[in-house]
Order: sequence, then C-alpha cells, then structure tokens
Amino acid sequence: MTGAAPLRILREEPAPSRFARRLGSGGAAGELRAGSVRTLQVNVGKRCNQACRHCHVDASPTRTEVMPDDVVDACLDVLARHPELATLDVTGGAPELHPRFREMVVRARELGRSVIVRHNLTVQFEAGQADLPAFFAGHACEVVCSLPHYTEDATDRQRGRGVYEKSVEGLRRLNAAGYGRGDGLVLTLVANPVGAFLPPKQEDLERDTREYLAARHGIAFDRLITITNMPIARFGDWLRRAGRHDEYMERLQAAYNPATVEGLMCRSLVSVEWNGRLHDCDFNQMLEMGLAHGLPQRVHGLDVRMLAGREILVGDHCFGCTAGAGSSCGGAIA
Ligand code: SF4
Ligand code: SF4
Repeated sequence: MTGAAPLRILREEPAPSRFARRLGSGGAAGELRAGSVRTLQVNVGKRCNQACRHCHVDASPTRTEVMPDDVVDACLDVLARHPELATLDVTGGAPELHPRFREMVVRARELGRSVIVRHNLTVQFEAGQADLPAFFAGHACEVVCSLPHYTEDATDRQRGRGVYEKSVEGLRRLNAAGYGRGDGLVLTLVANPVGAFLPPKQEDLERDTREYLAARHGIAFDRLITITNMPIARFGDWLRRAGRHDEYMERLQAAYNPATVEGLMCRSLVSVEWNGRLHDCDFNQMLEMGLAHGLPQRVHGLDVRMLAGREILVGDHCFGCTAGAGSSCGGAIA
C-alpha cells in the first residue's frame, strides 16, 4: 500500500424540519429537550383484534410483531432498577394479547409502580379475555379506553361495524368491576376526530360524552381526553389517498401553540419498541427514528438517568402534538 491520503467523506447535515424551525426563533432551528424520565412506555407489539382507520401503529389481527421474552425481561429489569420510573404505560396493538401482558402488570404493581393500560374495549370479547375488567381492578390499573366518539355511527366509521356496541358492553363491564365510579379505579376515555380535523375542546366533549353515555347506556367514566390524529402510518396513508395530506399538515402548522411545548409527553417518557429499540415517543417509534446519536438505543441494561435532558428527535409530524390545545398520552396539554 502507498501512503495515499485517506479519503474524507463529507456528509451533509439534513435540513432542519419545519417543526424544528418553529421551535427556534428568527428562522434558526430550535431544540426540544427532555426532563427526567418518569414513564416507561412499552409497546408490546402490533397485534390487535381491530384494524382502525386512524391507527398510527398500523396494528391489525394479521401483524406478527410480538415483544420477545428477552425484551420483556429487560423492561422489567429497568423498572426494578429505577424507582424514579413511577409509571409503566403498556400499549400495542392490543397489549392484552401479549402472552406475558398480565405478568408485566403484576410485576410492575409488586414494584409499587402505577400501571396504565391502553385498552381498546373490544379485546374483552376475544378468547380468554372476559375476566380483563376483574384483572385490571385486582391490580388497580388505570384503564385508558379508546372510544373515538360517543355516537355509534362515528365510532363504527373509524373502527369497523359493530365496534361501538361491543365497546359499550366493555364499558358496562368495567363499570361493574368498579371502574369509573370515582372510587380510585380510574377509567379514562380517549376520543379522537373521525376525519382530518382537530379535536373539539376537551371539556366540552367530556361533558357531552358523559351526558350521552349516562342517559343512553347508564355508563360512567372518570375523565375524557382528546388526541389529535397523527399524520403518519395508516392515517397518513388515508390522508394521501384522499388528497388531503397537505391540507391537514397546513391545518396543524397553522394551529401551532407554543404553550404546549412544556407539557409534551416525550419530555417525561421513553418509549420501548417490541424489539427493544428505544424512541422518544410512540409516534417516533412508528417512524423508526430511535434516540439521538450517542444515546443508548436499546432497553437492555438501560440506565434511564442517561436520558435526562436528552435532545428529542423531532419532525413535521410533531405539529400533531402542538396544534391547538395540544395532544399527548394524557390528552390536551394547554
Ligand atoms: S387504533 Fe388501537 S384498537 Fe385500533 S387498530 Fe390501532 S392499536 Fe388496535
Ligand atoms: S411526536 Fe410529539 S411526543 Fe413525539 S417527539 Fe414529536 S412532539 Fe414529542
């Protein structure tokens, strides 16, 4: 070999997203930084008994991605080593279909952590799942149930025919198990727009839903949160097919609300993909973004203190979280 000078590869930095520029000032890109991580959000896989039109996970009964044992063990290990992780937030797909779902809940509760389960209601009617309300109640999980709208027509248009009827029966069974009565078993409903628009005011929709479900079905719940549909995955594809993607993005950008930035969910959680990869949130997970360069990328052996103050990877989809009153796993922000 001769002593030729090594070849230098110059890599162009990607242009900052419109969202990053919006975070900044004077046209310069701004940064989003996390605080300390208090929630371990675990997406146990993409298998679901439903295939909703707005699903940002592209979940369905035919998906085969299921969190393997080593990743489940690694999540439980991280939880055990980090008492500062006050909450385990289990999502999917339909997380209850994971073979070790119940074990994860039991272990987290034994460790004294709060457990939130993202529950689609209809999974109660799958084989072997009829006792879910009693299981949730027995372990004092907060159950966060998706019900796009309180009317049958709107919900079935988004989730499929017959879903509303089953969802109502699922809510009745949760009420019968003690949920939604203000006695500590918290039943939260999640509503999202059935179309390419922003959610209505959360308090107004909560009031209307409470009145309607009580009068029509005798159902009670503790609170309702609204979530903005994210322009990614199945909903993003639908927007493109309908020729409405640009219009929806413009709507989200025009409604940018800086007061929501402080409360963005990515600032206090880390999201674990079924294969053990780490992300800033469930949406970034679906876009396979990972965490910023130099940070741990897998849950195995994770020291969550290394994620405090981290730079969060953002893109134009983040406008879905900052539009109007904002949107997060806990609903409206501002
Ligand atoms: S939105 Fe929820 S219930 Fe519907 S397909 Fe996706 S994960 Fe399943
Ligand atoms: S999509 Fe929302 S939660 Fe995720 S990184 Fe962007 S702003 Fe944060």
